[in-house]
Amino acid sequence: MAVPVSQAWTVATYVLGQKLKGRKRFPLVTMLEPLFRCNLACAGCGKIQYPPHILKQELTPEECFRAVEESGTPMVSIPGGEPLLHPQIDKIVEGLVVRKKYVYLCTNALLLKEKLHLFKPSKYLSFSVHLDGQREHHDFSVCREGGYDIAMEGIKAAVAAGFRVTTNTTLFDGADPNSVRGHFDEVMAAGVEAMMVAPGYTYEKAPDQKHFLGRARSRRLFRAILSNRKKSWKFNANYLYLEFIMGKRDFKCTAWAMPTFSIFGWQKPCYLLQDGYADTFQELIDGTNWDNYGTESGNPKCANCMVHSGYEGTAVNYTFGSLKGLWQTAKAMMNRYEDKGALDLLHEPVKPVHSFNPLVQIEQVQIETHVRVEEGTRV
Ligand code: SF4
Repeated sequence: MAVPVSQAWTVATYVLGQKLKGRKRFPLVTMLEPLFRCNLACAGCGKIQYPPHILKQELTPEECFRAVEESGTPMVSIPGGEPLLHPQIDKIVEGLVVRKKYVYLCTNALLLKEKLHLFKPSKYLSFSVHLDGQREHHDFSVCREGGYDIAMEGIKAAVAAGFRVTTNTTLFDGADPNSVRGHFDEVMAAGVEAMMVAPGYTYEKAPDQKHFLGRARSRRLFRAILSNRKKSWKFNANYLYLEFIMGKRDFKCTAWAMPTFSIFGWQKPCYLLQDGYADTFQELIDGTNWDNYGTESGNPKCANCMVHSGYEGTAVNYTFGSLKGLWQTAKAMMNRYEDKGALDLLHEPVKPVHSFNPLVQIEQVQIETHVRVEEGTRV
């Protein structure tokens, strides 16, 4: 199992309970963004482009608890920004753990080792470390030399201290499937519980717009990476979602499954788009025209999206929607996906995208602005 039995049981009973209540749209994971500040300035990120007066704001622990109680989800993911920069992140996590929420604290791990003492190991808490591949690829992707080594140190320290640790890898055009497979070996050897992998989303605000994957290229890349799977690899994702990104099945977006709450309120319709905000979770559900979203809607913003915040909830819903769904998920967990064609893809030459077409680098002046904000020089 890639997650503890108690977590799988909690999610299963929650989903079945929602279905028995006849709820058409119910959330599964609250995406809680307590701040947008970060100590990195990745070219593919759509979050850290906010002006300084927004970057210095943050949610209080009470606001976080209210949002999670409102949505009622059994799981909470805390992205950002970099959550470890929040001065009360320990209180937020502690309060959610007391409420028996399974918390994924998403971090670039630059501060993980030094802030580990703020947290207590718990089955309810996982550090989800953002690593975009092996050393060279990750450092390039996050625009920070040495970032990979610091993150790996943080992972090892957290594992040694008894914490649950997972990784989260976002892939862009030019990713080398062999290198990604090597990365999986490295992080599993470092003792992580499981890995999440997904294609990057084309954020309109991201400074680099050239390297996002289209759907066809995503499927080809993930077929190469996830076929002929090693037994040692464990994934912190619904295994039918992995089949979706490999092009083996189709799902429709259920963006309400992972609603996002930030300093602006509940974000419409999903973690990725910003078509307005709602004051309450119910207003988000009732006041969003969901037919306008998802790849089939014809909305150009959704055309290439395959991210887990839109489609993993669909996969989970499918898993627990019937005995057939459960059976297919169990089979997917055992399947190594032997595929000769995918092996051939691994033998195709790959020219790393940065060797001929450098990623956009965010101007130094912008980075310095963020660093000043994070160090407390609040405007
Ligand atoms: S398809 Fe992607 S971008 Fe569009 S609503 Fe769903 S999750 Fe959001």
